[in-house]
Amino acid sequence: MFGRFSIDAARYEFDKRLNWRIINTMTDNFSQLIDRFGRRVTYVRMSITDRCDFRCVYCMDEEMHFMPRERLLTLEEIVFLLRAFCELGVEKLRITGGEPLVRRNVDWLIEQVGALKRSTALKELNLTTNGSQLPKYAKKLAAAGMDRVNISLDSLKKDRFRELTRTGELTQVLAGIGAAKQAGFKRIKLNTVIMKGRNDDEIIDLAEFAIDNDLDISYIEEMPLGHVSHSRSESFCSSDFVLAALQNRFDLQSSIVNTGGPSRYYQITGSSSKIGFISPHSHNFCDSCNRVRVTTEGRLLLCLGQEHSMDLRAIIRQYPGDINMLKQAIIESMNIKPKGHDFDIKAQPVIFRHMSVTGG
Ligand code: SAM
Ligand code: SF4
Repeated sequence: MFGRFSIDAARYEFDKRLNWRIINTMTDNFSQLIDRFGRRVTYVRMSITDRCDFRCVYCMDEEMHFMPRERLLTLEEIVFLLRAFCELGVEKLRITGGEPLVRRNVDWLIEQVGALKRSTALKELNLTTNGSQLPKYAKKLAAAGMDRVNISLDSLKKDRFRELTRTGELTQVLAGIGAAKQAGFKRIKLNTVIMKGRNDDEIIDLAEFAIDNDLDISYIEEMPLGHVSHSRSESFCSSDFVLAALQNRFDLQSSIVNTGGPSRYYQITGSSSKIGFISPHSHNFCDSCNRVRVTTEGRLLLCLGQEHSMDLRAIIRQYPGDINMLKQAIIESMNIKPKGHDFDIKAQPVIFRHMSVTGG
């Protein structure tokens, strides 16, 4: 069993009629998803596959077992689920994985989800990708309404890139970044996980690459999600260390930009590029958390670093086409969103799910 909590779908049969009425009378434009701590949930990250063409050392173990296909949500189920969230007031969606662009017919999915902007509260549709499939998909995605794209890049050295991703080709990813720039997304951001002794000598080079290409860049602290083959406490590199290295080279102004995410941003003087830090260890961002995640198999995770969850796939499959039932379950799930996570890099792994299942 994955989570501590699961929904008893039978209970919902009992008060289905009442719920129908409650949901239909809620017509304001604000998110109806408010947790016990008064935080309004307006952001959903959806993992559409746990599979990937890379095997990044901090994300996956050398030997990975992927989910049997029947356990995955179908593309139709994903659209249905995201529609429910956006009708409840969710304004921002991020499609992630695994590598979302290796899922078959992902372009169809993005078209369907992009169309939700016309009929629901959805304002922004974003993607996190390793970039390898962007030469094939970038234009189609932009045409379907994809707004922003985050592309992971941990090294600019060909051999090191292969070492860190185990199977990735740097040239393919650089071509993907080029294709994304040409496709005309609102903004492109690089995501970089800095690991001590592995790529911490490239902190500046990666920032310069971002500046030269008019991109933003976020440095992410490694999180203890899933078993991997190295010691995370030895490779862990704090955002404070990265920031100090960058401040030695650039003039950084703290920015008030808030993208609705946990990043803290700095503007680089004389450049349009911003530098962000995602620091779940050194700077806890739980107080302002506005997000939830949905795993590949339809489990709603209320916190990245905790196991509190609800099985939405069970509800979708038990009540096919009943969007009000699904919405009510989502509203109820707000009662189990925990106050925060308590990552400890020394105890590994804290959470047995890999990021590829959770959706980073
Ligand atoms: N495959 C896509 C990619 O790599 O961008 C999307 C999924 S990946 C899980 C999303 C993000 O999570 C990537 O930027 C990756 O660097 C980051 N990530 C994966 N495992 C991580 C970990 N253990 N700690 C911190 N970041 C991690
Ligand atoms: Fe794949 Fe992204 Fe995980 Fe790397 S970080 S293994 S690209 S899912």
